[in-house]
Amino acid sequence: MPHLVRERLYFGDIKDAIAALTESSPTPHFTHVLSVVSSASISFITDCRPGPSIPTEEVRRVVAGEKGAPPTAAVAPGTLMRVVERAGQGLRVTRMAVPLRDTEEEDLLDRLEPCLDFIDEGRKVGNVLVHCFAGVSRSASIIVAYLMRSEQKSLEDALEALKEISESACPNDGFLDQLKLFEEMGFKVDTSSPLYKKFRLKVLGQSYKFGEKISSYMFEDDPGLSPQSGSCQDSSKVEQRKTAYRCRKCRRVIAVEDNVVSHVPGEGESCFDWNRRKSGHPYNNKEQDCSSLFVEPLKWMTPVEDGALEGKLSCIHCGARLGYFNWAGIQCNCGSWVTPAFQIVKSKVDISTI
Ligand SMILES: [Zn+2]
Ligand SMILES: [Zn+2]
Repeated sequence: MPHLVRERLYFGDIKDAIAALTESSPTPHFTHVLSVVSSASISFITDCRPGPSIPTEEVRRVVAGEKGAPPTAAVAPGTLMRVVERAGQGLRVTRMAVPLRDTEEEDLLDRLEPCLDFIDEGRKVGNVLVHCFAGVSRSASIIVAYLMRSEQKSLEDALEALKEISESACPNDGFLDQLKLFEEMGFKVDTSSPLYKKFRLKVLGQSYKFGEKISSYMFEDDPGLSPQSGSCQDSSKVEQRKTAYRCRKCRRVIAVEDNVVSHVPGEGESCFDWNRRKSGHPYNNKEQDCSSLFVEPLKWMTPVEDGALEGKLSCIHCGARLGYFNWAGIQCNCGSWVTPAFQIVKSKVDISTI
């Protein structure tokens, strides 16, 4: 039996979904089913039980990177994000299927908001069932995020609230990290936030580790090519001026402040270094004192696309050496490890505004 979480909102497993889609008078009567399982296809559900197939009629299909689709910086273009269909007897149930595996590396974050909106819409007109396979990790993560956003609850409080209703609710550790990020971003997924950028880098690093080809679609646009960084004569706009990092030799913009991925100086192994202790608490160090900047991968970093673990980063305009990249990480002079690392040596760049 599905668990009632809030008025008109239920939490369940694959059996509950089968009942919701096949019984002629299920209790409760569901108008909306959110399926978060490995495959978006209805056959994933029908294969789990004997009997005739479940009729469906597709309403909408969203693929990452297509026109009109929201930006999903950590998902490859062409990836199926979700399908909305009418399903069940008389096509009475609106089902949204979000393909997602229950592994720590899966990108829940980029799928989260449409799920929460679907629940909101569904609760306006009827009963909503959120289910995955076992009703433990994936559906629990969605419900927890929903409680966080709709009731402005912290991750801990939302998880506690769900566990009171269903003890089995237990998002995997990777999902928990992402839900924490969701909380820190103010209960929304802001792809321009530094927190999200760090998350994207982590996802990229994992893809690299798993031997997936890294291509430049995952890289941020080259700030040196954007119109705003051109001759900078026409900066009369009200837009805030941005800090830009230019190649010291040829003055080409190679990064802007939005590209910088911050790190906590002194964090990591060297915190326990004797020298460092002598100089006081390592966290008192400021990132300004670091001799390097770490940025997200940018489209001008063409050697990164070749698939090497590490390499040099050079100015795409004049060829001057700017820094290094290493998927396995680089240690900043402050002691912190940044992984993966796209490092720009500060002495090779000038700081200006654009
Ligand atoms: Zn240059
Ligand atoms: Zn540092």
